[in-house]
Amino acid sequence: MAPYLTAVMATMLHLKRVCPKCRHAQVVAASRRRDTVACPICRTPVPPPKR
Ligand SMILES: [Zn+2]
Repeated sequence: MAPYLTAVMATMLHLKRVCPKCRHAQVVAASRRRDTVACPICRTPVPPPKR
C-alpha cells in the first residue's frame, strides 16, 4: 500500500471518536481533534483519545 494512503487511514482512525455513553461513532474535524466534542446523539462530552 502506498505510504500516503496509510497516513490518510491512520488520520481518519484518529478522527473517529466513539461516545462512551451511547457508543455512537462520529468523525471529528481535524481542526478539533484535540478538543472535547459533544456527542450529537446524547450530548455527552467525548474527550480526545489519549495518545
Ligand atoms: Zn452519545
